[in-house]
Amino acid sequence: AAASALLSPGTAVEFAGVDKHYPGHRALDGLDLRIEPGEFVALLGPSGCGKTTALRALAGLEVVTGGTVSVDGVDVSRTPVNQRDMGMVFQSYSLFPHLTALENVEFGLRMRRTPAAERRRLATEALDLVDLGERGGRYAHQLSGGQQQRVALARALVTRPRVLLLDEPLSALDAKVRVQLRDEIRRIQQELGITTLFVTHDQDEALAVADRVAVMRAGRIEQIGAPEELYARPATPFVADFVGQSNRLEGLAALGVVTVLGQDLALRDRALSGVVRCFVRPEDVQVTPSGPTAGARGTVLGTSFHGSFRRTTVLVGAEQIVAQHAASVVFSPGDDVVLRLTAAEVMAEADPA
Ligand code: ATP
Repeated sequence: AAASALLSPGTAVEFAGVDKHYPGHRALDGLDLRIEPGEFVALLGPSGCGKTTALRALAGLEVVTGGTVSVDGVDVSRTPVNQRDMGMVFQSYSLFPHLTALENVEFGLRMRRTPAAERRRLATEALDLVDLGERGGRYAHQLSGGQQQRVALARALVTRPRVLLLDEPLSALDAKVRVQLRDEIRRIQQELGITTLFVTHDQDEALAVADRVAVMRAGRIEQIGAPEELYARPATPFVADFVGQSNRLEGLAALGVVTVLGQDLALRDRALSGVVRCFVRPEDVQVTPSGPTAGARGTVLGTSFHGSFRRTTVLVGAEQIVAQHAASVVFSPGDDVVLRLTAAEVMAEADPA
């Protein structure tokens, strides 16, 4: 029953060979990305990789240098920002301080000359949607950071945009509020069925909420896929390194097999040979007390507690290796242990040295 007036019909978005060049710099460099109607895509990447530029190019805040941005199959590359029908939320709370929450939400409708009764009805519904129905009379300074971002979200949704654009909307919030609002954004997005592009440099955030995560590097997409797929099968060393935590272990590769920590494992990239760096997740490293078990012998350097699991750092030769295990298993610095790799297949890259 909630939010019926704000339901989205679902819009397709496509970046095709999009360039944005500045003198001496390519912020976008042949960006290809298709977002399906009603899909939630997170753009994830390191600082400066072009995430914000991509979002701004879709919004119409940047004129692209080449390629096309299309919405429902129509090229909007030259369409002015106010005709693109995008809802936007940014990192900084951008509420008008002299307007109440409700008036802030009504603002976009006022600009569109929506009649007062209709305006009030839609704005109330949008505030209810973000759970602030009771606080419509408050001013920004009477709201917490998380509440201000909820108002900003309601303000973005109230005009029934074709696409919702979120640029690091959680970055200024405390850890706990951040997770709450993150889940709330996902719930609302699914409830409305609105196509959403979410820019973040935080991999946990991206993996937690998105239907698909697009990892960006140097102005283009390095890999796009469901969170589980990206985590389990990174296509490149860059993705393996950026998504999730990985050990980088030295190995020797030949004929599709890599020898690492004394074990022979299948290589993802069968063409590699010679000295390589292997990316191995902590959960793919098994640590057991020293005993008859076969494996690499090492000494515990330290441990950390993460609620449902622990991580133990082990020194093997000159390499520090992080293993993840049940929280009930406890090692102490100085313990002699044995490590075994449990990954079926290893991602590696040629050793840069
Ligand atoms: P961050 O998370 O740090 O914002 P980002 O991935 O969103 O990073 P963008 O803001 O899209 O990155 O910027 C991409 C690159 O383009 C950066 O290297 C930036 O310095 C450059 N850039 C952005 N705007 C301009 C401009 N007006 N002139 C020159 N270079 C620019």
